[in-house]
Amino acid sequence: MSKKDDFMDEIINKEGMSRRDALKFMGVSPIAAAAIAGAGSSSLTKAEASDAQGKIVIVGGGAGGIMAMAKLRSALTNPDITIIAPNETHIYQPGQVFMAAGEYTYEDIVKQNSDFIPDDVTWIKDAVQTFDPDNNKVILRSGDEVVYDYLVVATGLQYHYDWIDGLSEDLIGKHGISSVYLNDVEKGTADGGSITWEWFNKLRDAAKSSKPKVIYTQPNTPIKCGGAPQKMLYLSADYLKEAGVESELVFATSGGKLFGAVPAVDKELNEVVQPRYGNITNKFAHNLVAIDAENKKATFEHKYTIKGEYDEDIEEYEIITKVDRVEMDYDFIHITPPMAAVDTVANSPLAWQQGSAKGWLEVNKETLQHRRYSNVFGIGDICGIPIGKTGGSARHHAPIMAANLIAQMEGKKPKELFDGYTVCPLKTQYGKIILAEFNYKGAAPSFPLAVEEPRWMWWAFDLYMLKPMYWHLMMRGLM
Ligand SMILES: Cc1cc2nc3c(=O)[nH]c(=O)nc-3n(C[C@H](O)[C@H](O)[C@H](O)COP(=O)(O)OP(=O)(O)OC[C@H]3O[C@@H](n4cnc5c(N)ncnc54)[C@H](O)[C@@H]3O)c2cc1C
Repeated sequence: MSKKDDFMDEIINKEGMSRRDALKFMGVSPIAAAAIAGAGSSSLTKAEASDAQGKIVIVGGGAGGIMAMAKLRSALTNPDITIIAPNETHIYQPGQVFMAAGEYTYEDIVKQNSDFIPDDVTWIKDAVQTFDPDNNKVILRSGDEVVYDYLVVATGLQYHYDWIDGLSEDLIGKHGISSVYLNDVEKGTADGGSITWEWFNKLRDAAKSSKPKVIYTQPNTPIKCGGAPQKMLYLSADYLKEAGVESELVFATSGGKLFGAVPAVDKELNEVVQPRYGNITNKFAHNLVAIDAENKKATFEHKYTIKGEYDEDIEEYEIITKVDRVEMDYDFIHITPPMAAVDTVANSPLAWQQGSAKGWLEVNKETLQHRRYSNVFGIGDICGIPIGKTGGSARHHAPIMAANLIAQMEGKKPKELFDGYTVCPLKTQYGKIILAEFNYKGAAPSFPLAVEEPRWMWWAFDLYMLKPMYWHLMMRGLM
């Protein structure tokens, strides 16, 4: 069977796409062709097969850790790899958004890490408690020490629902509160998906007899999948529109724009996507700081600037930043939690010690090599680099990080450079996605198509193909 047949089989039999849609998709989609063509190639920037020796320890067995392991293992002739990963279960986290939309269930997005970690890799099912890079070792929760020659940090990030006064994880799913993000990557739970699908339905039912006010928040910290707050906004808006019910939707974001990274996408969202619903109000520069769950009140810090005194010397008005507290009532609220580097990294010498990236892993934004410990590299969300906390970024990190780590093992200078690539499959309604790909320089579409155009093709790609590609290709280092 050809790779194309394999994929047809996978998306029809396992992903539930109809044969007609699969044929249509394969026929029209340049990405399908590219995905299949790319399926056999080992990487984007192929790490040359190398005889380099040394003990590599990877910390974290999520998207980045498993991809790093697979790439290094295939690129080294005699790999000596240890992975420290407490999680037996592996969640395909982007699938939580499709769970929230009622398209996937938990069973669709979960597999065992033993499917991906081969026997010749030492798997320590524990977590790192302390990083000690000055002595090339980590200390586990069990108290055991693991020494290394080279370290790859792939711990991802952690949520901070607790930074919102009055909120705790156990309130999610109660009092009209939801959050698609809710999961525990160590335990392998993904409750945010199922809770938010219930929330969509409660919202629709409430809207049959009233006009509920719904708030969607986005915090002032870096977040993984920066598009997810708006994905929830548009998918639920579309769900209510289809049901023919009325509601009042407020998008309250700490940011100043809907999609600052790509102006064309920002324009499309403002001028086409949001007007399609007609019931969305944006509240920019609003950061959720407190919640009164019982009384359904949310408090935001609203930051803005005003003109101060005229300064004769510099011939300009002084700009004064003001912060007001703004309280809003709601019937339902979807909360995106503040996020930060996991504590074990944030409290270690490996973290940026100051500046806006404080706490995140201090790597060079292009080589992904630690800026102070040359035998340490990073992959995935933990990296303290300007953009890209997505699985799509981690996929691009993997071959670059692997090639650079091997160069370091060989005593050469790391020379592969990450361009900042990230991707946001922004669901603007059921059946339509804007595939916003961008990097440090701006829009970076992989295909010669208008980046801002919502397309069914991307919806079909995301819903039916990306998940099998994640499990069968990315987790095995094949793309
Ligand atoms: C709702 C949602 C929607 C998303 N949508 C998209 C999307 O559409 N497209 C996209 O590309 N990405 C999306 N993402 C983001 C994507 O899932 C992450 O960017 C990706 O998983 C990052 O990989 P990672 O390895 O850095 O972190 P993770 O995959 O989170 O893995 C980190 C691992 O490290 C482990 N760990 C943590 N601390 C330690 C320790 N001290 N010792 C050992 N192990 C440790 C954790 O248990 C975990 O298994 C989404 C995420 C969510 C939650």
